[in-house]
Amino acid sequence: MADATLVTPESPFATAQEQLRRVAEILKLDESMVGVLSQCKRELTVNFPVRMDDGSVRMFTGYRVQHNEARGPVKGGIRFSPYVTLDEVRALSMWMTWKCAVVNLPYGGAKGGVIVDPRSLSEAELERLTRRYAAEISIIISPEMDVPAPDLGTDPRMMAWIMDTYSMMHGHSTPGVVTGKPVGIGGSRGRYEATGRGVRFITEEACRQRGKPLAGQTVAIQGFGNVGGVAARQLAEAGAKVVAVSDSRGGIYNPAGLDVEALYAHRMAGGLLAEHKGDDHTDVTNAELLELPVDILVPAALEGQITELNASRIKASMIVEAANGPTTPRADEVLAERGIYVVPDIVANAGGVIVSYFEWVQDLQSFFWEEAEVNQRLQRIMVNAFNEVSAVARERDLRLRDAAYVVAVQRVVEAIEDRGIFP
Ligand code: NAD
Repeated sequence: MADATLVTPESPFATAQEQLRRVAEILKLDESMVGVLSQCKRELTVNFPVRMDDGSVRMFTGYRVQHNEARGPVKGGIRFSPYVTLDEVRALSMWMTWKCAVVNLPYGGAKGGVIVDPRSLSEAELERLTRRYAAEISIIISPEMDVPAPDLGTDPRMMAWIMDTYSMMHGHSTPGVVTGKPVGIGGSRGRYEATGRGVRFITEEACRQRGKPLAGQTVAIQGFGNVGGVAARQLAEAGAKVVAVSDSRGGIYNPAGLDVEALYAHRMAGGLLAEHKGDDHTDVTNAELLELPVDILVPAALEGQITELNASRIKASMIVEAANGPTTPRADEVLAERGIYVVPDIVANAGGVIVSYFEWVQDLQSFFWEEAEVNQRLQRIMVNAFNEVSAVARERDLRLRDAAYVVAVQRVVEAIEDRGIFP
């Protein structure tokens, strides 16, 4: 059971379309271009059977949505969660288009998902489900067309099963069909940590620009998975004081600072934060965590967490959106009025897709890089993108989110115009 105090998200696709409309007005895009950008190019729904360990057969539903491929093959993660909807996958695929464009990767956006609680399945059931889903969507994925990656509820194990399933169906190993794989089968060094490490690079740069170094600032992080857990370690390593973290069952808070390494080891061993002993902390709900008195808030779980209902109570002066779509448009208005500095998701969490791009390039060339090179290139791309977006924000007097959308949407529009409308 998830934490019942979790804020219920508004329609994520409505949020994504509203964000697009805002930037379309700023860029004075014509209606036909807005029409092209507002829709997803291709949407596949798959209903498929999986044999359970007890011999019974259960039906599952999954999706793969490709938003726009004007700038290249499409890219985006696969989410395993009981809350997956087609609406959510559409939104996430549109955000992937903007994310790839804002950091200037030669990709369009896509996303996938299966309605399932992965924790409720055995390892063998999870493998059969992942392989069957991979086979179902194999008609629209390939290294040249659509390259999935991990997201909420999925990890390198599942990426390995997808790579193997696709390879078996094609008669040869095809590592470039998916990223976020284990390093031994074509994964990139540094990929697992990439999103959380990117969150650190961006937070450091944002703090530097605002004249208040990250070291010593207090941080609360919602979500302690691949992104939130690694971001917590990275931010602590950079000298920040991580005072609160949470998972789906709720969170823990200690104003003196948490032992992030111990908590991370506890999570990697499969434990829940609320069960962790040995730290002097108070239990908080996911909703309470968002309103704690901290300098920096890092939502790193689900979309739609910061809404018009709680935005006025947020005490952090900076929000770094590690999750996709954690702030609704209405909440954005409230945060802007209150002068809260928001580093938007498409920039803040782009580290994952950047290193996924590196992984794909390494797979296509069968030439693998040292981790130091991966991390250095990641930092360069992220800091450059952040500086470019902040410069646009200053020049055009925009919030960072609008500036990021201006940079991203402009690039996609240019690609569509350069290519023209077929036929
Ligand atoms: P994950 O499954 O590894 O971890 C998710 C974390 O959120 C876990 O700690 C889980 O307990 C917690 N969580 C789940 N449901 C929750 C709920 N209802 N309330 C509070 N916490 C909840 O997933 P992840 O890969 O870390 O993804 C987290 C976010 O980051 C998502 O929005 C995802 O789209 C985004 N993201 C992920 C990547 C990536 O490379 N994995 C890249 C960019 C963005």
